[in-house]
Amino acid sequence: MSMPGIPVNEPLLDGNEKRYLAECIDTGWISSEGPFVSAFEEKFAQRVGRRHGIAVCNGTAALDAAIEALGIGPGDEVILPAFTIISCVGQIVRSGATPVLVDSDPVTWNMDVARIAERITPRTRAIMVVHTYGLPVDMGPVLALAAQHDLKIIEDAAEAHGQTYRDQPCGSFGDISTFSFYPNKHVTTGEGGMVLADDDVLAETCRSLRNLCFQPGKRFVHERLGWNLRMTNLQAALGVAQLERLDGSIERKRAMGARYTEALSNLPGVQLPVAATEYADNHYWVYGVVLEDTLDIDAQEAMRRLSAHGIGTRPFFCPMHMQPVLRGADFFAGESHPVSERLYRKGFYIPSGLALTPNQMERVAEALHKVLA
Ligand SMILES: *Cc1c(COP(=O)(O)O)cnc(C)c1O
Repeated sequence: MSMPGIPVNEPLLDGNEKRYLAECIDTGWISSEGPFVSAFEEKFAQRVGRRHGIAVCNGTAALDAAIEALGIGPGDEVILPAFTIISCVGQIVRSGATPVLVDSDPVTWNMDVARIAERITPRTRAIMVVHTYGLPVDMGPVLALAAQHDLKIIEDAAEAHGQTYRDQPCGSFGDISTFSFYPNKHVTTGEGGMVLADDDVLAETCRSLRNLCFQPGKRFVHERLGWNLRMTNLQAALGVAQLERLDGSIERKRAMGARYTEALSNLPGVQLPVAATEYADNHYWVYGVVLEDTLDIDAQEAMRRLSAHGIGTRPFFCPMHMQPVLRGADFFAGESHPVSERLYRKGFYIPSGLALTPNQMERVAEALHKVLA
C-alpha cells in the first residue's frame, strides 16, 4: 500500500474554532451582522496596533477597497513588486491607473527597495509593498521615500500575520494595510480579509465601499459605487479562534522552517529561505526553495517529480510583466525583471501548512533529496 500524499497546505483548526462556530448556529447569527465580526475587527486591529479594522470577504477585496478608498485612478501610477500575486494589480488596472514594477532582491525575494526611487515620477501616487513568503519588506527606505515624495503606502500583509519589521507589527506601516485569511495563511477564516487604517475618513470610506455604499438615512440612494465585500459572522468566529493562537502558530512555523532548513542544508544546488535579516526573523509563511542553475531542471520538473512521490507543491508567483492578461495594456513594454523571472522559473514551495507533522516533513525532505540527486 502506498503512503498517503502530503498536501501543500492543511490548516490547524483544533482550538476554539468549533465552539465559536456552534455559537453562531445556536444564536442564529450567521450573516455579517453578528457579534463575532466586530469582535474580530477590534481584536485584529489591536493586535497590529491600528485604530480601525474592517473585515472583508477576502484579501483581494481588501486590496481593491484600499485602491478605491485612496482615490487612485486614471493618470496615477502605483509602484509595486513585479514578483507578487495578481490580486495586487487588479484594481489598479481596473481603476485606469498604471502599475509600475520593481524587481526583487535575490536573497529575500521581496521588492528590492533600492530600486524604487528610479521608478518615481510626478504621477506616482502610492507604493504598494508586499511582504513575501515570510520576510517583511525593508520598510525603512520605503517610508523615507514615501515621506519625501508625499506618496501613500499600501501594505499587503496577506502573508505576514504576526510578523514584525524591527519589532513593529507588519500591517502597521501602510496608510492602508491589508490581510488575507485564506486557509494557507497564519490566521484563516476559510475565505476572508481585513483592511486596517488609522485615518478615520479612510476607514469610513472602506467600511462604506464594503457595504455597497449604502447611505444611512437614504438606504437605497447611492452617491458612489461600492461592492458587497462583507465577512460573515461564521468566518469571523473562526477568525477570533485563530487569532487566539497566532503566537503559537508563528512559533510552530518558525520551528518548521528551522527543521526543513536543517534537513535540506546539505542538498546541493538549492537556495533555501534565509532564517533572518537585520530587521526580522523569517516566519516561513511558506517554505520556498529556488533551484540553482547548477541543476539542469526547472521548478516545473522538480514539482512533477515530487508529485510522483505524493508531495504537494505550488509554483512561485508569475511576475506581473509576464501576465498574459496584462500584455495588451502595454504597461510593461520591453521591461525585464530578471530576478523575478528567475524566481518564477526556478522557485516553488513545499508543504508548509500548520498541520504538517515532523514525520511528514522528514518524508518531504527525503523526497527532495531523491528527486534532485
Ligand atoms: C493570499 C494573498 C492575497 C489574496 O488573498 P485572498 O484572500 O486569497 O484574496 C493577496 N496578496 C498576497 C501577497 C497573498 O499572499
